[in-house]
Amino acid sequence: MKNIVLFGPPGAGKGTQAEILKEKYQLVHISTGDVFRYNIKNATELGNLAKSYMDKGHLVPDEVTINMLKAEVEKRPEANGFIFDGFPRTEAQAEALSDLMEEKGTQINGMVALEVADEILVGRLLERGKLSGRADDANEAVIRERIAEYYRKTDILKSYYQKQDHYHGVDGVGSIEEITQRLCEVFDRL
Ligand code: AMP
Repeated sequence: MKNIVLFGPPGAGKGTQAEILKEKYQLVHISTGDVFRYNIKNATELGNLAKSYMDKGHLVPDEVTINMLKAEVEKRPEANGFIFDGFPRTEAQAEALSDLMEEKGTQINGMVALEVADEILVGRLLERGKLSGRADDANEAVIRERIAEYYRKTDILKSYYQKQDHYHGVDGVGSIEEITQRLCEVFDRL
């Protein structure tokens, strides 16, 4: 199994690249943000809870997110491996993911991080907001809060995976094709 954490701040291009890489490597793509948005659209209990955090640009609590992620993984027993997009975002989530992989007799092969400067992220998210219809992309204050939340709670995972020799940084600025190429060079080695 190949299990990869695709990492980076909001707007780094994780979702776009995961869609391409899942086809190339025949992996199951799980985006926790997409699962939350699906639940919001369908007005589920999980969706209502998640929305109150997402609208402010804050993270959904760990317990809720971890249970949801586990359920998504359990739905795909036939998977060759996973691309985790937007998860883990806290150290508790990273620990839970490591335990989950161990239970399944596998592990995380690596974290591949898209590195993009903050001001480029804000511009990309505002542009995406014009097309995506995502409420959290339409408002610059919410975008900046998501980036702040990233530095408060998520950026620390870089050193978490570096300690395990599992961190691989990739320049996330360029054309979609150029970035895919850079990511593939890392994926092929994992
Ligand atoms: P994303 O689509 O990855 O940008 O996520 C959109 C929003 O969903 C985030 O701003 C959070 O509110 C929530 N979210 C997604 N993934 C997680 C996670 N792993 N932990 C907590 N909240 C998350």
